[in-house]
Amino acid sequence: MISVSIQIASYLFASILFILSLGGLSSQESAKRGVWYGIAGMIIAILSTVLGPNISGHIYIVIAIAIASVIGIMVARKVEMTSMPQLVAILHSFVGLAAVLVGFGSYLDPHTHQLTGAAHSIHLVEIFIGVFIGAITFTGSIIAWGKLEGRIRSKPLLYPGRHLVNILLVIVCIILGAVFTMATGTSGMVYLIIMTAIASFIGVMLVMAIGGADMPVVVSMLNSYSGWAAAAAGFMLGNDLLIVTGALVGSSGAILSIIMCEAMNRSFFSVIFGGFGNTPTGSLKAVEGEVTATDHEEVSNLLKEAASVVIVPGYGMAVAKAQFPVYEMVNTLRKADKEVRFGIHPVAGRLPGHMNVLLAEANVPYDIVLEMEEINDDLVETDVVLVIGANDIVNPGAEDDPASPIYGMPVIQVWNAKQVIVMKRSMATGYAGVQNPLFFKENTDMLYGDAKDSVDKINTYLKA
Ligand code: NDP
Repeated sequence: MISVSIQIASYLFASILFILSLGGLSSQESAKRGVWYGIAGMIIAILSTVLGPNISGHIYIVIAIAIASVIGIMVARKVEMTSMPQLVAILHSFVGLAAVLVGFGSYLDPHTHQLTGAAHSIHLVEIFIGVFIGAITFTGSIIAWGKLEGRIRSKPLLYPGRHLVNILLVIVCIILGAVFTMATGTSGMVYLIIMTAIASFIGVMLVMAIGGADMPVVVSMLNSYSGWAAAAAGFMLGNDLLIVTGALVGSSGAILSIIMCEAMNRSFFSVIFGGFGNTPTGSLKAVEGEVTATDHEEVSNLLKEAASVVIVPGYGMAVAKAQFPVYEMVNTLRKADKEVRFGIHPVAGRLPGHMNVLLAEANVPYDIVLEMEEINDDLVETDVVLVIGANDIVNPGAEDDPASPIYGMPVIQVWNAKQVIVMKRSMATGYAGVQNPLFFKENTDMLYGDAKDSVDKINTYLKA
């Protein structure tokens, strides 16, 4: 067992490791180091809490950690890169649920009611707010999981007066909170339960109202909520490290949400309040032009003749696991003295940074991987753009069709290139469920099929 002073020192050290971890995750080169800092910080945090003063029942804690670790390792080994967002969403729901359970546990704890005066009232407020944030995070994350997993329709559920209903429900929760803090003993339990039900409903409705291309912000926003829920649990348990860690997660998630909103040209508040003031109007523009298809040999000939090639990967590249043959193709083209670069959209795939992770996995050098703003101006001068399993992020309707659900989102303007090849399996829509006029443009040809299969075939022709 360790003393209080050693525990405080360990908490401080773990907090520093968490900050270093977040810093490390900000660039691809230092990301692995960042993960190791995080792992070390978490081991120190768990050990110094479990071995700390006033903790009993170590055997149960060890058994619980062992079971959870086995489940965690099994899930992490099995999960596909394409299912990571769902996993992240469901893990956020656990944090929310934990905050709710800690809140109820803390309220039932006799020590809570031995407190008097302001200390008692402050602790009750901590419990009430902690349970409120936790319940919203819990149900909101489950709905986000359902939407990302495709079990719930991704399209936003917008009903008139929903903002008013949400505001009224929050006001009811504030009133319940006031009554709860004035109740004696555990007689406030009924108010806590009613508020939990209302907050759970708010969580469902908030995320149901967001969908389509705004989902990336939901994931980062729930990440932020789960941080605040953890910080609230830290207050309830009087655990400083949990407060610091929760605040780090909460604020970094909020910053990421703002960055994602800026990248998508969305107002942060309009997204978090469920599409406030953002509802598309009218019907979609009629698509003009004809879809033309090409084959692998033609594409390889086109690439052989091109001097500059830009590759725009999307979710389909992740599904097909095409990053490895794509890198092989890049190597072949670069050896033939062609300029080859990647254009990465901030919300490509299903996770912030999804494409960067896949390309790093395939050892693609970072210096040829450019952001959307860096590549857009160069597209006019580009001979061939290969769109590999991307759809929404190259949809011109985002620029010129106010009725489109993704209207206003900046996209990679691939249609400005001399020739565009779109690799996908069919004419199916992308995540936002909207038809893509790019496929009908004169300088666009479709190369149907699984992306990995298509790139493999192109590689064979390129080497022939
Ligand atoms: P999209 O979901 O818009 O399109 C992906 C395309 O890939 C589909 O149209 C599909 O067409 C094709 N595809 C699927 N499997 C394969 C395969 N095996 N081989 C070839 N093609 C395949 O993806 P984008 O990356 O363009 O856009 C991301 C979308 O996801 C945006 O709307 C974004 O807002 C949203 N989103 C992003 C998140 C993030 O954090 N990045 C999180 C949540 C949502 P077909 O079926 O015809 O093959």
